[in-house]
Amino acid sequence: MGQFSERVLVVEDDRQISSFICYALKNEGFSCSAAYTGQEALSRLVSASADILLLDLGLPDMDGLDIITNVREWSEMPIIIVSARDRDMEKAKALDCGADDYLTKPFSATELTARVRVAARHLSKLGGGAPQASRSVGGLQIHFDRRLVYLDGEVLHTTPMEYSLLSLLFKNIGKVLTSGHIIREVWGAGYGTDTQALRALMAGLRRKIEKVPATPRYIITETGIGYRLVDE
Ligand code: CA
Repeated sequence: MGQFSERVLVVEDDRQISSFICYALKNEGFSCSAAYTGQEALSRLVSASADILLLDLGLPDMDGLDIITNVREWSEMPIIIVSARDRDMEKAKALDCGADDYLTKPFSATELTARVRVAARHLSKLGGGAPQASRSVGGLQIHFDRRLVYLDGEVLHTTPMEYSLLSLLFKNIGKVLTSGHIIREVWGAGYGTDTQALRALMAGLRRKIEKVPATPRYIITETGIGYRLVDE
């Protein structure tokens, strides 16, 4: 049995996939309940409490996006989308609606539990306490109060834009952020959706932090969707 006690609601109409998910999560110590339609999911969320939502976007009765929008009106609970391959637009849309992460079918139990563990950790941070003054991933460290970045113990000189980008990624370690979301946060809401400036900023930042910028170990590109700072 694992160390987690969070309750996961699995919303998935394919019963085989649903039982696979619940089996894998229970093995890790999560408690798990299943809903097979969107309506069932919404009433379950109202009547019983769940900490983490695992949501298939292709449901028989409802668009998964409407469920995300509904939940976000009253809860910050982690939402992980489960979606078919090659639906990048759909995934990006769901992330922009407020989902936190996604899994592409077919996925392994290892991949599934890793993502749910990240969600559980974010959840415990949502729970309160003062925001952390610093965070690190491998040799990369950020100090929010001093606005400083260190790489392998040395101060890393960043531009204000690079710092904003890195700070956003560090506040969402392990989570995928859509390009649209990053652009809104770093450049502001009026900037539009041109990803070219983001790609240029990312390339510059990677040249500073990655030993081999072409095969990054810190910031991973989620093709067609956005970026993720690895969770170690
Ligand atoms: Ca489905």
